[in-house]
Amino acid sequence: MSDPNSSMPVPVQLTEQLSSLTAQQKAFLAGYLWAESNGAASAVVGLPAAAAVGGAPQRSITVISASATGNAAGIAKKLTEKLKSEALDVTLTSAGSYKARQLAKEDIVVISTSTQGDGEPPEEGVPLHSYLFGKKAPKLDGVSFAVIGLGDSSYPLFCQAGIDFDTKLGELGAERLMDRVDCDVDYEAASDAWIDAAVAKLKDVAGGSGAAVAGAVSAVDTYTHEESAYNKDNPYTATLLTSHPLVTDNAGRIIQHVEIDLDESGLQYQVGDALGIVTNNPSELVDEVLGLCGLSGDENIEGRAGTANIRQALAQQCDLNQLTPKFLADYAATAGSDDLSALVEDKDKLQDFQAWTPLVGLLDAYPQKLEAQRLYDGLKPLAPRLYSIASSQEEVGEEVHLCVGLVDIEANGRVYHGSASGLLSNRLEEGDEVQVFVEPNPRFRLPESGDTPVIMIGPGTGIAPFRAFMQQRNADGAQGRNWLFFGNRNYRDDFLYHAEWIEYRDSGLLHDVSLAWSRDGEDKVYVQDKIRENAEAFWQAIEEGAHIYVCGDASRMAKDVERAILDVIAEQGGKDEDDAVEYLNELREADRYQRDVY
Ligand code: NAP
Repeated sequence: MSDPNSSMPVPVQLTEQLSSLTAQQKAFLAGYLWAESNGAASAVVGLPAAAAVGGAPQRSITVISASATGNAAGIAKKLTEKLKSEALDVTLTSAGSYKARQLAKEDIVVISTSTQGDGEPPEEGVPLHSYLFGKKAPKLDGVSFAVIGLGDSSYPLFCQAGIDFDTKLGELGAERLMDRVDCDVDYEAASDAWIDAAVAKLKDVAGGSGAAVAGAVSAVDTYTHEESAYNKDNPYTATLLTSHPLVTDNAGRIIQHVEIDLDESGLQYQVGDALGIVTNNPSELVDEVLGLCGLSGDENIEGRAGTANIRQALAQQCDLNQLTPKFLADYAATAGSDDLSALVEDKDKLQDFQAWTPLVGLLDAYPQKLEAQRLYDGLKPLAPRLYSIASSQEEVGEEVHLCVGLVDIEANGRVYHGSASGLLSNRLEEGDEVQVFVEPNPRFRLPESGDTPVIMIGPGTGIAPFRAFMQQRNADGAQGRNWLFFGNRNYRDDFLYHAEWIEYRDSGLLHDVSLAWSRDGEDKVYVQDKIRENAEAFWQAIEEGAHIYVCGDASRMAKDVERAILDVIAEQGGKDEDDAVEYLNELREADRYQRDVY
């Protein structure tokens, strides 16, 4: 008699046993065997057979990061890796590549978002945010979620974007799996604790009894932030080649063109990226702070980088310009000043004071002696500053160029400077070392095709990335139309990179230039006035597929410019306000409206 198993791919007894399984058990086994053949089933090997075959199905998790400087993206990535190592079914995506309409179809959504200074989500999170807050927001019954927010408590709307996402998802019917966590600038400890809690929770609710064979192999990583050998924790020590003024002595402020040599670092950047500058504080300012606090500078503190003396810590690690409400309240408690105590109780006055008063201003106006450790603990960590890169490597090779406005801070009858802008404009000499890293900005990219028209709107130092764009379009031999909207105070004094724009116009690469001078005539003229003035041509360019880019101040300019663009879309396109908003959101989702604003 022949062996009944010989003509079967699996033993007959096994096929008989299989026929007694439920559909869910069969589905589980199919995934298990497929995963095992791909070497990924170890996560379930130790499970008791009954539990593995009979339990709840696994749930899918989508982790969405909305990040401006990469921190929220880093948290999302870390969480995803931990979930993957638990063999959960997880997909990581940046909000910029996420289609908001997908949300209602999700099972579990985890959002990691930062917040801009004015309480808005970072640029890549705007479409998702405006979809959720718009008229077409979906019902989210059946979706579960968790949110972690990053922010800076020295700004009034601390972690507002995280609060918005968390609140709105709940209002739309989604199930909150865990309380939101709001993290401050020094976020690592809080975010690590939240990640651990989230992994435990998600294992519990999403693991299914058969723990995720599918997850071990099906996680699709759509993470878009690029990795580099150098980053903010490991910056490259570059050399300052030159720093020279772009404005005349009559401009009333200083804006510098800065060139930095990346030498043989191998550092690569794309136009649209930013350069991180590791900054420090000038020794005169540190001396002044020490004197006002009654410290010699030799006192030791326990800091983030171990034990250090307070002089070094103030120079390298502490933000001396931007105070937090918490520090101000703590300082007021022992300053013996009724005025200051009243001020910290009044939210509006506190906000105003905080926005304009550096540490020396506080110490001078409300003097008191401070212990070194208390001073250190109260100050924000000195974060690297990001500048939009003003060059293309196609043109400048191993160099990187920046356009830096020197920030003036008035206090005690003197003018102090922003930490990084002061470093790049004043304190560094040619040939000095400067620590840098490239911060990729994948949400601010030229169109793939050189034939696509572009509209660039960048008043003030917001012009920086557009100098890079033009160098790139030139190097690529791009044929598409280029239209620049630039504005500043006076034509004569602060037309940044004037000669280069003339050259581009004369060579035919720059097709249209719309200039707005705010202090040349009786009335202020801003870039948005120029957009309205050219409404018909602007609309036509949009209709022809133009990509629109905005760079510069987020708090007022970017909002006013967006208003003007919406007006053009509404008036020229014959749309009502809601349709115009939706039209602009569609442009955003199609990467045809990109902003680099802060
Ligand atoms: P600025 O001198 O403050 O302003 C440049 C021009 O814009 C001036 O003519 C100014 O006019 C005008 N302006 C003022 N309010 C405006 C508004 N609501 N809409 C349109 N134009 C307006 O500019 P800046 O100092 O060079 O830089 C501006 C900001 O952009 C800074 O906050 C900087 O941090 C930011 N920035 C961001 C990026 C980025 O996101 N990557 C890059 C570069 C700069 P008046 O002063 O005469 O009113």
